[in-house]
Amino acid sequence: MAEKLLTREKGFSEWYVDVVLKAKLADYSDVKGCMVIRPNGYAIWENMQRVLDKMFKDTGHRNAYFPLLIPESFLRKEAEHVEGFAPQLAVVTHAGGKKLEEAYVIRPTSETIINSMFSRWIQSYRDLPLLLNQWANVMRWEMRTRLFLRTTEFLWQEGHTCHETEKEAEDETLKMLEVYRAFAEDYMAMPVLAGRKSDSEKFAGALRTYSIEAMMQDKKALQAGTSHALGQNFAKAFNTQFQGRDGKQAYVWQSSWGVSTRLIGGLILTHSDDAGFVAPPKLAATHVVIIIIGRTPEERGPVREKAHALAADLKKAGLGVIVDDDESKGPGFKYFEYELQGVCLRVELGPKDLAKEQVVMVRRDTRQKDFVPISQAVAHAEGMLDQMQKDLFAKAKKLRDDSTFEVNSYDELKAKADAGFMLAHWCEDPACEARIKEETAATTRNRPFTLEQKPGACVACGKPSPGRIVFSKAY
Ligand SMILES: [Zn+2]
Repeated sequence: MAEKLLTREKGFSEWYVDVVLKAKLADYSDVKGCMVIRPNGYAIWENMQRVLDKMFKDTGHRNAYFPLLIPESFLRKEAEHVEGFAPQLAVVTHAGGKKLEEAYVIRPTSETIINSMFSRWIQSYRDLPLLLNQWANVMRWEMRTRLFLRTTEFLWQEGHTCHETEKEAEDETLKMLEVYRAFAEDYMAMPVLAGRKSDSEKFAGALRTYSIEAMMQDKKALQAGTSHALGQNFAKAFNTQFQGRDGKQAYVWQSSWGVSTRLIGGLILTHSDDAGFVAPPKLAATHVVIIIIGRTPEERGPVREKAHALAADLKKAGLGVIVDDDESKGPGFKYFEYELQGVCLRVELGPKDLAKEQVVMVRRDTRQKDFVPISQAVAHAEGMLDQMQKDLFAKAKKLRDDSTFEVNSYDELKAKADAGFMLAHWCEDPACEARIKEETAATTRNRPFTLEQKPGACVACGKPSPGRIVFSKAY
């Protein structure tokens, strides 16, 4: 029997790492802070990419690719940007056996190098809007790393757009946040709060940052995606101007937005359990494993034939299918292993089932066990997967809603910092926010669009507050 997983109750962080390693999603590498994404994990990323890429293209964006290395001087052109990213930069000083005249940074994000090109490509309002996306790796030197959630190098997409007016840029920023919300909820089955971040939590160089925030099973928040209204900050730094409809020169208005392999960490922390990884069917690499049962070649032969015919039918329906015909391992071991790796449905097929013209179908998340006539197996599998997708979302949403509450005093905020999302009044003073973070470890997550804003008094200092914001401990 394979080694058992650690349980969530014993230690949530340890359990998380154990799931990532034992489900073969990722592994530690010999490069500090960098992980290796294994095929089980990369398949999830490919499915995320496929869905998101279509959503970006459906909203008018095209993909491009810019260099990994950025001249160090580019970062210094936008003061807040360089200040925000300086501590995390990896810098290339030597190449080709010589010291470089100007050092390059490995991109932590690409606003600067992309603007250096935008300034050449954009002349007139006719060149706008310019809507680009890049799929790439980035590097941010992190002190403490955690597989998928915070790694020195990670994979992501970064959208970069230019517009004639501030209104159009703001509309774009919010439109892409909505794309992220829909992706998180409809595909990842992960409920999120979409809203605006506080000024101290915004992207370095942006006017406004919006985010989607999810609640993990340990009731901590995970920032799952961000969309930034950049204003004209980078346009001014790189002189990205266009001739307007009035004939006058003007700086473009910009947005940028991104999600990363961190989403895979969010997926694991939202749905997985003490038996291992649970993948929402819409993003799972393998939907069905068919396990051939039988002791002798005489028993296995006809079962094998039926199993492959069923696999072909399931594949025709668009499902990812594995047939396990390994005679060296028993069914119990296999059930354990496929549950660990997050295969959504297990189909058991043996000589007795064959005699009854049926299969046994077991759902990964609930262990619901159905006896299904083989002739109806494909439709039944589709129905079970559809229900599983819905149930995963409902379960995660119930946890989030049950663990979201108003707090009305600083003592209450301190006492309930581990209990979930706290809706509290805050005065918008960054010093007050910093003190709350220092004393409670809770940070402002965002001001959800769905939360009605009514004035009140700051929970920490009593000064006027425009409305409640979400405080929570976070990844
Ligand atoms: Zn305050």
